[in-house]
This record gives sequence, structure tokens and C-alpha cells, in this order.
Amino acid sequence: MKKVVKFGGSSLANAEQFRKVGEIIHSDDARKLVVPSAPGKRFGGDTKVTDMLYQCYGAAENGEDFDGLLADIRARYQEIIDGLGLTLSLDEEFAVIRQSFENKAGSDYAASRGEYLNGIVMADYLGYEFVDAAEGICFDADGNFDEAATNEKLSARLSGIERAVIPGFYGAMPDGSVKTFSRGGSDITGSIVARTVHADLYENWTDVSGFLITDPRIIDDPQVIDTITYRELRELAYMGATVLHEDAIFPVRQAGIPINIRNTNAPQDAGTMIVESTCRRPKFTITGIAGKKGFAAINIEKDMMNSEVGFGRKVLNVFEDNGISFEHMPSGIDTMTIFVHQSEFEEKEQKVLAGIHRAVAPDFIDLEANLALIAVVGRGMRATRGTAGRIFSALAHANINVKMIDQGSSELNIIIGVRNEDFEAAIKAIYDIFVTTQL
Ligand code: ASP
Repeated sequence: MKKVVKFGGSSLANAEQFRKVGEIIHSDDARKLVVPSAPGKRFGGDTKVTDMLYQCYGAAENGEDFDGLLADIRARYQEIIDGLGLTLSLDEEFAVIRQSFENKAGSDYAASRGEYLNGIVMADYLGYEFVDAAEGICFDADGNFDEAATNEKLSARLSGIERAVIPGFYGAMPDGSVKTFSRGGSDITGSIVARTVHADLYENWTDVSGFLITDPRIIDDPQVIDTITYRELRELAYMGATVLHEDAIFPVRQAGIPINIRNTNAPQDAGTMIVESTCRRPKFTITGIAGKKGFAAINIEKDMMNSEVGFGRKVLNVFEDNGISFEHMPSGIDTMTIFVHQSEFEEKEQKVLAGIHRAVAPDFIDLEANLALIAVVGRGMRATRGTAGRIFSALAHANINVKMIDQGSSELNIIIGVRNEDFEAAIKAIYDIFVTTQL
């Protein structure tokens, strides 16, 4: 059994957190490959080391004095080293970093040092080998992740090594310069490492006990999702639920390796398992509820629209020509509605309307702004009758006007459009009917 374990910044913010991580790793012999993030916030209002590095490098790039900022970063690591009672010295590392900042090595290089240094500290603390991610994670000359090169280089680098720490978030381009993933990218590194070493499980340790059924800012202490499929996760993540970097799913998914989201501060909790497919019935009919505010709907009417071949394409072309992506497109016999992000649409609104008039000569166009979309997601819906009915009666009881309904043909989700101001109440009504009343 081999597990890749990734720890997020809050799990590694100080020595106390490092100790918890050490205990977690030592309590299971299968936890052989460790991917750390950079130290995160120790308390509310604190700054993540990654942000400190960006700021420090910004000063260096502008030719300003950056020694004070670099000393603050160093202090973060020293606090951890001292707190753990290690004798490790980062003198040489910081001399190299200082010099590279002076030589303007780039902001990706700068940001990556957060994970790099934390990897060195972690390897020293655990007694594991340190493997620099620049020696195994490859980007091509355009800066895109290079899967084939990584497979080859990383497996060669890790061969014969039983236990290693590989920093998250970065790799190297063909010319050797450091390149990072987007923010939160250590999740991706963990996933890539898991696939490369054919791990049995990718454990992603963070500060929550898994995916919550819905947003805790809307529902007090929501239930944790015990098992979720990759597809359900994609739907929820797209609608704004975040725990894991979106791109972290693909590498392990290709290899059929499950992800287990765990809580460093509550290691006894089982967390959430993310799997390709499962026979396990979800605890509730729905798996999760997520949503976003800030949509606008463009409602187009034209008599006999339905018999006009190419009508939809012509309308969508107008959006495409204006660089606006659409979210949903429910339609009736002679009506068609396009949901777009209001912020994207607002500035181009009149151009789009004129374009639609030119393209399809509609009878009438109506705009409605300040709408929210809510996705109710669940593989369990396919096997259960009446899910939609329950959602709409719950919304009706809560006095919420439903503006739009869209059920994907996969029966994996139902999307509901409501007014922005009804957003929270709608989520609450749906949560209550499927979860609270079933407890
Ligand atoms: N430290 C990086 C960030 O803050 C990457 C990560 O934590 O995953 O975005």
C-alpha cells in the first residue's frame, strides 16, 4: 500500500501544525510520499508565505530594498525550525534566494521558494529524502504542464526512493527555469505524484473534514459528504464549491486513484472520498448544493422560432463574437433564454442586443439582471423519483420564485435560477428538505 499525502498551507503554518502532520505521517506506514505547500496563515489577518514572497520579489524587481521583507520570510521558517528543535540551517538557501532575487529570477521562481524551503524543513523533520520538484515536474516551453515529460522524469527521479518529500506548486521548463501552477497548485503536484508512483490513494490534508454538502456561510455546520464522484465534484466546483484545485482531479482520475480529503486538525474524521464511481448509496438523495450570484438572462422571443433552422447558432454566434461565454440556455417553443455572467455582459450589453437584432430579427428581447444559479447535484437523483418535485415545493413554501430550471440529461444535477436576494433562502430550503429533515 502506497499513499501520497499532500498538506495545505494551514496544516504547515507553524511548528505545532508540523507536529500534527508528523504524527499523521508516522501513524500510517503507507504514507510514503509527502507533498507540502508553503506555510499558510497562523491566525486571521496573518500573511501566507507565498504572498510574502510575491511582495518581496516585487520590491526586488523595482530595485527597492527587500532585505527586511526577506528577513520576515526567513523568520517564518526559523520559527518552525526552532519550534521543532531541528538543527537545520537555511543560511545557504537564503543566500542563493537573495542573489536570485537581485538577478531578477522571476516571480514564479520567487513564489516557488515557499514550497521549496518548506520541503527541505519537512524532509529534515521526517527523516525523508528531499526531491526538488524542478527535477521531476515538467512544463513545456510555452509554460504548459508537460505530462509525458513529467511521467518519464519524475518516475526516473523517484525510482529506488522509498520515502520522499516533494514540494508542491512548481516544476521546471525545458531551459531549467522554475514555473509554478496557478495559486493553490500544490494540489495538482500531489495528484501528479500519486499517478506517477501508482499510489493506492491520494490523501489531501487541509483544515476542513471534507467537502461540505453546502456553503457553511449559508448553513450552520452543514453535513460532510462522505463519498462523491469526480463528475459530481466537477459540477459542484464549477458552481463555486472549493476545497481542491480544479486541475488536481485530472491526473488521478485518469489513473483511477481515489482522493481522500482529510482534516489535519481532526485526523480521526474519515473526510470525503472522491471516486470515479461507486455503488455506495449517498446518505441523502442529493450529494451537494452550490451556486453563484451575478447572472443576467437575455430572453429572446420570435414567432415560429422553432422552425427556423440555425436560430440558436446565430444567437450564440453573437455572444461568441463579443467574447461572452454563456452558462445555460433553456428554451421554449418560441423563446430562448441565455444566461451569462452579468459582469462580463454589462459593458457589451447594447452591442449584443444590436447583434441579436441583426442576426435573427426577434420580435422581442427582454433582459433580467441580478439572478443567481443554484446547482443541486447528486448521483442519487437518477434512482429517486420526485426529486425535482421536492425541490420546487420546498422553494414554493419558502416563497421563492423560480426563474429557470435546467436538468442535465445525465440526471446528475438540476440547475435552478432565482433572484440574487433569494439565493441564501433557496439553498436553505433545499438543504432542509433533503438533509435536515432526514437526520
Ligand atoms: N502556496 C501556493 C499558494 O498559496 C500553492 C499552494 O498552497 O497550493 O497558492
